[in-house]
Amino acid sequence: MKIQSIPTLTYHKIDFGFELGLNKIHPSKFNKHIQLLSKKGYKAITTKCEYSSKKVFITFDDGYQNVLLNALPIMQKVKFKGIIFVSSNFIGKINNWDINFGLNKNRHLSKVEIQELSNNGWEIASHGHNHYAYSKLKLSEIREDLIKSKNILEDLTGKEVISFTSPFNIMPKEVWELLSEVGYKNIFIQKSLFSENNKEFRDLNIIERRSVYCIDSSKNIQKKILNSSKFELIKENTIHSCSKLTVYFKKIEEANLLPQS
Ligand SMILES: [Zn+2]
Repeated sequence: MKIQSIPTLTYHKIDFGFELGLNKIHPSKFNKHIQLLSKKGYKAITTKCEYSSKKVFITFDDGYQNVLLNALPIMQKVKFKGIIFVSSNFIGKINNWDINFGLNKNRHLSKVEIQELSNNGWEIASHGHNHYAYSKLKLSEIREDLIKSKNILEDLTGKEVISFTSPFNIMPKEVWELLSEVGYKNIFIQKSLFSENNKEFRDLNIIERRSVYCIDSSKNIQKKILNSSKFELIKENTIHSCSKLTVYFKKIEEANLLPQS
């Protein structure tokens, strides 16, 4: 079985309390998703495990502390392993890279916490170093961002970092070449509505993911896993393109902060 055919879900934060946006999922809801998958006979693995039928990847973007606190115990109960994509420049810091008008503050995993997940069999993967949109960087800067992140995470865990997902899912076509050159193997991207993503690029495996939001019920999870609903994919891509607006808002915000001459 090929790695590319393993159904993959994307989560961000698993936590209590309200926040603006759709990326924070209450632990009791997350528990329902995991219980459903487990009852249906699925098992969540990492890219370093053997691939066979009824396997899924459960991935978490940005490397939040609440994943360790709230998702790990729920997944441990059914022996599921997760994959967490960490932005290495934010280890132990608050998510001030995210536009939030002073709201939605969340802490990223510390070094020790990343090691704890790694020691529990989770895969530590790269989400770049600075969480910059690669459309805004020069190729040399992207290369540096990719290498730095890989090196920092490998030093921290003592394990090879082979999986990557890009910040904001923005992937200029030149980046594929760099990813292969720098030594990544598995590249995770949001499943697109309009075009069939290529599943391979040279020696890279391209794995399509389905985003999960706080509005999603267990039924929606099933549709994502089985890829059985066009409407579900339309909904996902609509929400996803709204989240890309963050990049543009951030640009405006930065421009406003420039010293006036
Ligand atoms: Zn991100």
